[in-house]
Amino acid sequence: MIDVVDPSTEEVIGQVAEAGPDGVNAAVRAARDAYPAWAATPLDERLALLGALADGLEARTDAIGGSLAREMGMPLAQATAVQAMLPVAVLRSTVEAARDFPFVASEGGATIIREPAGVVAAITPWNFPLHQIAAKVAPALAVGCTVVLKPSELAPLTIALLEEAARAAGLPDGVLNVVHGTGPITGEALVRHPGVDVISLTGSVAAGRRVGAIAGDAIKRACLELGGKSPSVVLDDADLEAAVRHTVTRCCFNSGQACNAPTRLLIPVARADDAYALAAETAAALTVGPALDAQTTMGPVISAAARDRIRVHIDGALTAGARAIHGGSTPPDGVPAKGFYVAPTVLAGVTEDMAIHREEVFGPVLAILTHTGDDDAVRLANATDYGLSAELFTGDDERARAVARRLRAGQVKVGGVSARDSLGAPFGGYGLSGLGRELGRFGLEEFVETKAVLGV
Ligand code: NAD
Repeated sequence: MIDVVDPSTEEVIGQVAEAGPDGVNAAVRAARDAYPAWAATPLDERLALLGALADGLEARTDAIGGSLAREMGMPLAQATAVQAMLPVAVLRSTVEAARDFPFVASEGGATIIREPAGVVAAITPWNFPLHQIAAKVAPALAVGCTVVLKPSELAPLTIALLEEAARAAGLPDGVLNVVHGTGPITGEALVRHPGVDVISLTGSVAAGRRVGAIAGDAIKRACLELGGKSPSVVLDDADLEAAVRHTVTRCCFNSGQACNAPTRLLIPVARADDAYALAAETAAALTVGPALDAQTTMGPVISAAARDRIRVHIDGALTAGARAIHGGSTPPDGVPAKGFYVAPTVLAGVTEDMAIHREEVFGPVLAILTHTGDDDAVRLANATDYGLSAELFTGDDERARAVARRLRAGQVKVGGVSARDSLGAPFGGYGLSGLGRELGRFGLEEFVETKAVLGV
């Protein structure tokens, strides 16, 4: 059994049973058995069932928000508004994308048929648990694959509500199967299983390397959505206050535990002092506390290990010469003695040679660097091994388009728009941020095989 811990209180709030090889075998067998009938089910019927699943999740919004607030520590109002509603929106936008998807097309003198790729292993993290599940399960099921899902062992309890909604929606038995457990035991058994055709993992670079190596050995396709060290690029004609406030807020959202969080703020050197003051003030306005406390605007981080790792990153940056203009590695004032609390931290004086500029912290830590103009800003923005997302601020749309083309990132968000408002747009990264794309048409492509029929 795996204990599930409430990060706001350190209390054990539940347990899940870890699936070993037998449990994984049973789940893969169920998915294989269900595959032929599901793949042959007319598209409209499959999409109607996904629509019913979206409705079922929506009807459970409050229960999902409450459950996620407890098991992963996001403030209740945010968990309900974002964590519970996002998977509903992803399911619905995937249904729309699937209606327009070219399952059969003519190209290059052939009939091109996009067929379901088979049984999918979906392995997901804890930071947006149901969103990441929806981003894999919805396109896989839409195109006719069946799925074995292994959610994160750190936030597995809310999955029971997903299973309940799937049953109530009428998904046939075996189409969506859940196994709980840790990555090295349950996750690897699933990835290695010969009955799995496609792997889709969202998680850390370490997990991506391991899963990608196993998949490569078996010549299985693996979609890997990994980490980030995303820049927020502020050009000299931008509204500095709006850009800085947005960046600090997004960096600290979900206690800094978002793969696409802007964690490096690149500001014109001439405006550094104003930016520092604005950033410190915005971070100071956050109220850190338990997820179920109505005053809280930033909850704890997921675990003691995460808290300790974040502190090491902060101390390392300070030793390397950065200055904490808000926060630091000691717990914030006023938080309970129990719980995994970290202060929102703003670091000034960061330079590109520092580890804090390159390494993903996965906590509420913003590194501020200065640039001398557009070329320098682009160079700094691209000076990491990651490339998941970038924010860009300028008062000139032409300049935005030109600079966006030069940024090595899977998404460039101009003027503080939210990825949540464009769920049909592809999401995924360059470099260490991974392989493949999720959401919309591009997300569907990950789960099909392409066949060309020639001569008829
Ligand atoms: P993690 O890598 O520890 O775990 C992610 C999932 O992979 C879990 O289900 C885990 O059990 C499983 N796993 C771990 N090792 C495995 C192995 N050897 N074989 C099979 N499965 C294995 O990551 P996490 O702490 O849950 O999530 C945080 C990380 O996820 C961060 O790096 C973050 O940037 C990244 N992330 C990326 C995206 C994206 O879309 N690019 C979205 C959210 C989070």
